[in-house]
Amino acid sequence: MTADPFADLPPLRDTIAAHGLSAKKALGQNFLLDPNLLAKIARIPGDLHGQHLYEVGPGPGGLTRALLKAGARVTAVEMDSRCLPALGELAEISGGNLSVIEGDALTIDEPSTIGNAHVAANLPYNVGTALLVRWLEAPWLPWWRSLTLMFQREVAERIVALPQTGAYGRLSVLAQWRSTARIAMRLPARAFVPPPKVDSAIVHITPRAQPVGVDAEILSRLTAAAFGQRRKMLRASLKSVPNALEALETLGIEATRRPETISVQEFVEIARILSDG
Ligand code: SAM
Repeated sequence: MTADPFADLPPLRDTIAAHGLSAKKALGQNFLLDPNLLAKIARIPGDLHGQHLYEVGPGPGGLTRALLKAGARVTAVEMDSRCLPALGELAEISGGNLSVIEGDALTIDEPSTIGNAHVAANLPYNVGTALLVRWLEAPWLPWWRSLTLMFQREVAERIVALPQTGAYGRLSVLAQWRSTARIAMRLPARAFVPPPKVDSAIVHITPRAQPVGVDAEILSRLTAAAFGQRRKMLRASLKSVPNALEALETLGIEATRRPETISVQEFVEIARILSDG
């Protein structure tokens, strides 16, 4: 093996052509081909040398190459069987650092199949959001060490949004109450082949300790009720949540407020009282 086993790889565009991997719209395929951009993305989780990384939806393997070059041990799950030969070639020269699983990431039981790992993914937006919510609701501390995920820009902004903004909602609270979430990179639509309709952004999320005495399921139900009717005052939207209006009173939170004015900390305090009862 040469010092850099990846030095002789053909450009990704040639790999895509050689394996007939034209992007399929139904699979939400928009590929990143620029090695410099991919190397920058691979730096977002921090130093990956010797780290286990779970990549969801590697496609032809552009980000996978960058993650391997950054020193990660990669487990990748891809559902498009057309991509497996190209990924197999990459696995062969990776010196045992890439294993590929053919399958649907939505059905993977990560704690038993993947174990502790950083996560990186450029996924179709609907799949990405479904996985994010599941990962944020995982038992704490979760199996994932960090999440580096591509979203359409508007979703990324909802994840990191602060109260009193139009983007602030359930996703913001779920992402921020026991994690730190930030936008690490913004990408114009033209960075992808083919370009999607909207711009994208990469969110980086790391877990923190969970506030004591708060049941995650209760917080989840509370935010679903509050933001399910975001134009309504809490006294109307929280009627369906047992003891929630009493909790507001205990905390001195006006029931005439609307959910976007309630801070993450206030949601946590309401949930803590409800978790007690
Ligand atoms: N990571 C590559 C890149 O950045 O160029 C490909 C990104 S493309 C937007 C999304 C990839 O995720 C596709 O290869 C698609 O087949 C795969 N994919 C879509 N849904 C999936 C799922 N549920 N489980 C696993 N892979 C999926």
